[in-house]
Amino acid sequence: MITVGFACGHSAQVKETAASAPVCPCGETQVTRTQARAPRFVGTCTGPYAETKALEPGVVNVAAGGPLTLTQEKPSCR
Ligand SMILES: [Zn+2]
Repeated sequence: MITVGFACGHSAQVKETAASAPVCPCGETQVTRTQARAPRFVGTCTGPYAETKALEPGVVNVAAGGPLTLTQEKPSCR
C-alpha cells in the first residue's frame, strides 16, 4: 500500500496496483506527498534494494503468430 497525502490535509491508503488516480473522499485530487515501501529487485543486479540471484533463462515469444524461421538469404549481384 502507498500512503497518499492530499492538498486538503487528508491522507489515504492506495493499492500499489491501483488503475486510477487517487481521489480524497472530500473530492481533492491534488497529491502533495506519498510514502511507499522500498523497491525490491531480484536477479543479476546489485544495489541496496537488490537480491542478487542467478535466474533460469526464460523463453519469450514476441513475434505475432509464433516463432520466426530464419532462412538463408540468396546471394545477389551488384
Ligand atoms: Zn480531503
